[in-house]
Amino acid sequence: MTATVIDGKAFAATVRAKVATHVERLKAEHGVTPGLAVVLVGEDPASQVYVRAKGKQTVEVGMASFEHKLSPETSEKDLLALIDRLNADPKVHGILVQLPLPSHLNSDLVINRIDPAKDVDGFHISNVGLLGTGQKAMVPCTPLGCLMMLRDHHGSLSGMNAVVIGRSNIVGKPMASLLLGDSCTVTIAHSRTRDLPGTVRRADIVVAAVGRPEMVTGDWIKPGATVIDVGINRIERDGKTVLVGDVDYASASAVAGAITPVPGGVGPMTIACLLANTLTACCRANGLAEPEGLTA
Ligand code: NAD
Repeated sequence: MTATVIDGKAFAATVRAKVATHVERLKAEHGVTPGLAVVLVGEDPASQVYVRAKGKQTVEVGMASFEHKLSPETSEKDLLALIDRLNADPKVHGILVQLPLPSHLNSDLVINRIDPAKDVDGFHISNVGLLGTGQKAMVPCTPLGCLMMLRDHHGSLSGMNAVVIGRSNIVGKPMASLLLGDSCTVTIAHSRTRDLPGTVRRADIVVAAVGRPEMVTGDWIKPGATVIDVGINRIERDGKTVLVGDVDYASASAVAGAITPVPGGVGPMTIACLLANTLTACCRANGLAEPEGLTA
């Protein structure tokens, strides 16, 4: 069997187009422009690349982008004061603080200062609680993107066995909550899981969010299963730096029914979902109907 490739790049383009259409309507019919504020502290090169990409795509879908680049020495007091100003600014519907923060800043304190209604990353403790209890929340972008692709591919996920490898707060745990919300039977595997290959082999859906290059091989995959590869790992191969996922694509795609590639799978969906969350936050703030198919 050769797996169907789930094209995250193409799917992300459809999500952005949907967002852009809705933004246009909000502007024309309600005079409202959704706005996203991104806060970057320091000069981490990867973070700078992400922030630039987020700002560019925000503008491309017709939203307002507010970038706040702060020096690496920024004090916690100044950062919290900026967040307070953004919380109070009616032009800002979404606030994202790019992580990781420099080590002298307490990320939990900073994230929990964001108004939960503007927390488009879905990391605020209130949103974590809402998601965990099956209530309307702002949902973390990467797992939301994975859920959208799974729903698009399968329609209903009800009754499927899902194994999420990784228990991080930003991917593994919210992914498991979302799959549970769609009535999957969910197993969360992690670094202490016994017989990981045997556990994964029972899955109809595998979501790999580990950070270990090509760890999940084809012999771990149940024939016909759907494999979502969240991993982004840079490795040296044949003298070049290449991007690979947590799944060994060559062997897994020979067994799986469907699979996301790296690059071009989950990655592009993450920013698309950030834009979708900003639109959702804007609609909720203005008491307007939310677009369909862009939230959990
Ligand atoms: P993390 O380091 O916070 O968590 C990794 C998890 O993997 C941990 O829960 C750990 O228990 C588990 N783990 C580690 N070694 C294991 C092993 N040998 N067997 C089983 N489980 C093991 O990482 P994260 O932030 O959740 O990110 C995971 C991966 O996803 C990384 O490659 C990251 O770059 C990528 N990522 C991609 C996107 C995207 O937009 N595509 C977004 C976020 C993270």
